[in-house]
Amino acid sequence: MMKSSRHDDATTSALTRRTLVKAGLAAALMPGLAKAATTRKAPASPSAPADVLVLGAGLSGLNAGLLLEEQGFRVTVLEGRSRVGGRVYSLTDIPGQPDAGGAVIAPGYARLLDRAGQFGVPLRPLASPVDKNGPMAIHVSGQTIPAAQWAGSPLNPFPQGPLRAVPPYAVGMAALRTSPPVLQSVGDWREPAFADRDISIADYLTAKGWTPEQLRLAFAVNPGYGNSATDLSVLMMWHLQENMRIMAADGSPVVQAVGGNARIPQAMAAALKTEVRFNQQVVGVRSDAAGVEAVTAEGQVHRARWLLCTLPASTARLVRFDPALPLLQQTAIDEITYNRTFQVFFEVAEPFWETDGLPASMWTDTSAGRLMPLGALAGGPALLLAYVNGFAADLLSRMPPEQAVARVQESITRIRPAAAGKLRVLHHVNWQDDPFAGGAYTCWRPGQIRAGFASAFDAPVGRIVFAGEHTARLARGMEGAMESGERAALQLMELI
Ligand SMILES: Cc1cc2nc3c(=O)[nH]c(=O)nc-3n(C[C@H](O)[C@H](O)[C@H](O)COP(=O)(O)OP(=O)(O)OC[C@H]3O[C@@H](n4cnc5c(N)ncnc54)[C@H](O)[C@@H]3O)c2cc1C
Repeated sequence: MMKSSRHDDATTSALTRRTLVKAGLAAALMPGLAKAATTRKAPASPSAPADVLVLGAGLSGLNAGLLLEEQGFRVTVLEGRSRVGGRVYSLTDIPGQPDAGGAVIAPGYARLLDRAGQFGVPLRPLASPVDKNGPMAIHVSGQTIPAAQWAGSPLNPFPQGPLRAVPPYAVGMAALRTSPPVLQSVGDWREPAFADRDISIADYLTAKGWTPEQLRLAFAVNPGYGNSATDLSVLMMWHLQENMRIMAADGSPVVQAVGGNARIPQAMAAALKTEVRFNQQVVGVRSDAAGVEAVTAEGQVHRARWLLCTLPASTARLVRFDPALPLLQQTAIDEITYNRTFQVFFEVAEPFWETDGLPASMWTDTSAGRLMPLGALAGGPALLLAYVNGFAADLLSRMPPEQAVARVQESITRIRPAAAGKLRVLHHVNWQDDPFAGGAYTCWRPGQIRAGFASAFDAPVGRIVFAGEHTARLARGMEGAMESGERAALQLMELI
């Protein structure tokens, strides 16, 4: 039967703390200093208020919680779901435990790799299965075009020149690459000196002669970021390119945790001294000079002296803050946008690509999105992932789940009749309708960085400190979440 993830489910002296903060966190991050996963846990007790209430048991909240505990602070982590990890989510009911959320760990993810090492989570290179029928094929306007024939295809909207040979899934990034890069350092994107570059990709590339059809193909079909060239900031994409360059580090392969990346946040949560409180959907945050309270949907009230909010902006906008947040922070929370993602995981009964002779992987402009063979993980059956983004994901999320999944499957078999009867739906994930995620990852719209949304959470607001990948300064994705948790923990150590 198909499964769905739409609704899944202090007392150290100030002197000591400040000394530790000033000495940096290097010692705290060294393996062995943190409590091991086997440490006996204290159940969270509402009668003994913690120093810090952490909202959210994703990577940012768990990293902050561990760092605070490692310095002697009492922490209570409140999580709305019945699991930790948030947008790091491994499908443990599927052989090989594929990752539906954060999947790719780059060699430069120092904090995440450090935590994996500290808690003994084994990693393996994340290799795509070898496709003997060639690289990812392109399917547009009802026609399938092998990658090698794309440059000569009448459906290719690019003029003769270097971009014509680049497949549509890479042409946007290729067009935005400049030599030398506009940003010289990974933190430049938030510097006022670059604010006037926070314009839409459509404006930037139209001025260079791009047509609407070129913009559509490169930025609105299966967009890795945003929905279209008009709603994505060119400054964000330059930051992304610089970030990818740094994260590629020495060029070692990207990796994944054996058994799924969720094993890393699970190990981090297990190392906390106090158990994560599950099914605590926070709907209100009240604060005054004495402390702060988080109120859950079921009316439970949790108290502490300080609060760390790591909720994605997409869910924080459903929380009532009392007193109200300043206009900049509330506007940022209301308007930050997330990539739209709908995924269907299939078991492949027979490798239909051996029948039709096409590559198993395919980039399409249909409701099937991108087809990505995951191979046979951990000795299980071969898996195929339909990874749908942008407007196509929007359309699917508006349908009843069974109908949406059927539409994806029909799209595949229309393009590839050989797949008929060979695919069995195992699981689908609708990230944008997930009430605890609201999308995949932050995609800055034009003008949002200039408006200060990206730096809005650098400083605490009263007794509330913010973290989460949308607040990261240098990294993005999982490492951005870890970075933000570290920054927030340091701020709290200074404040308490
Ligand atoms: C499909 C997809 C693919 C991705 N691919 C990659 C990748 O390859 N590489 C990469 O680096 N990153 C990737 N990411 C991004 C990465 O997973 C996230 O940036 C990162 O995990 C975010 O961590 P976080 O702690 O900021 O937020 P979250 O993980 O979202 O944590 C927030 C927590 O708060 C909880 N919560 C939300 N609302 C409430 C509430 N009201 N009350 C209580 N709890 C609440 C949530 O359940 C969650 O556990 C991907 C994400 C997705 C979804």
